[in-house]
Amino acid sequence: MTIMNRRKWLRLSALAGGVYTISGIMAFGNTGQEGYHLKNSGCLQLQLGKLEIFLFSDGHITLPDPQPVFAPEVDPDLVVRELKRIYLKEDQLEGAINVMVIKNGKQVILVDTGSGHHFGETGGWLLKNMEDKGIRPSDITDILITHAHVDHIGGIVGKTGELLYPAARYYIAEKEYDFWASGDPDFSGSKNTENPEGSVLLAQGVFRAIGNKLIKFRYGDVLFSCIRTELAEGHTPGHTVFTVFSDGAFVKHIVDIVHTPLLITRPEWGTQWDVDFHKGVETRKRVLEECYANRTLVMTTHLPWPGLGYIGKNGKDYQWVPFSYFTPGEIIEI
Ligand SMILES: [Zn+2]
Repeated sequence: MTIMNRRKWLRLSALAGGVYTISGIMAFGNTGQEGYHLKNSGCLQLQLGKLEIFLFSDGHITLPDPQPVFAPEVDPDLVVRELKRIYLKEDQLEGAINVMVIKNGKQVILVDTGSGHHFGETGGWLLKNMEDKGIRPSDITDILITHAHVDHIGGIVGKTGELLYPAARYYIAEKEYDFWASGDPDFSGSKNTENPEGSVLLAQGVFRAIGNKLIKFRYGDVLFSCIRTELAEGHTPGHTVFTVFSDGAFVKHIVDIVHTPLLITRPEWGTQWDVDFHKGVETRKRVLEECYANRTLVMTTHLPWPGLGYIGKNGKDYQWVPFSYFTPGEIIEI
């Protein structure tokens, strides 16, 4: 894997007279060249084989207390100790909302749409951040829905019921669609004490608005010759993870397998946000082990911005290893 912004590297090489000296690097840092002051920091750009990938921030979610949403049945002292150990706040839990856009030639593919207008000021930043990169809603040709929770489908429909991406076709796993569209979705495996009715109505309303632009896929299907689909059930019954690949390079978008580094070090503690708590734990452990064993580059929706990194191990515990990059505006080659 190479990590560099070619243009900057070339400029650097010119500055250093073709030799990559330390003095040349120092000079570059002080030149005040374009890109030094960033107009927008809500985007990270990657080159994955032939694909251009953009990671956008849609905002963030903050819980006033990590429990009971996370580790609902674990001794609070243990939870505080673990949060301290991994340098997270004890009195609140924060999650990012990271959204992936894939440019595949003329196709512009959005993986989920963020929270739209549903989270007030702390969400719905996606449209503005895409606009800053020159991507308009009408440019989006295809939208993949990983699962039908508000922070993933909330940005599909505007306040007055209009589709915000007028030219897009939408893709969802048949199993995920069937769960929410059925008359009586089964939440008996969840530890969530809140009434799920609002979520069900939201999902059904979004499906209705999409109408016949909705295409259902089956697990194992490869979409657009660059995205492999895989079932990762538990968070929702049809929760889908995607592996995006091109020219031998790939990144695996594991979506909501984990919402916080706490669920990486303690996957069995679980979350009330999973529709099936025990299946959620089982799938989380399986995916974490696979990603660890294969040293897979993973993308996540809710881990700290931009949600890109690896699953490492510290002793017997998994740990989150954020992807390293060295200037905010660089384009990273995977
Ligand atoms: Zn989510």
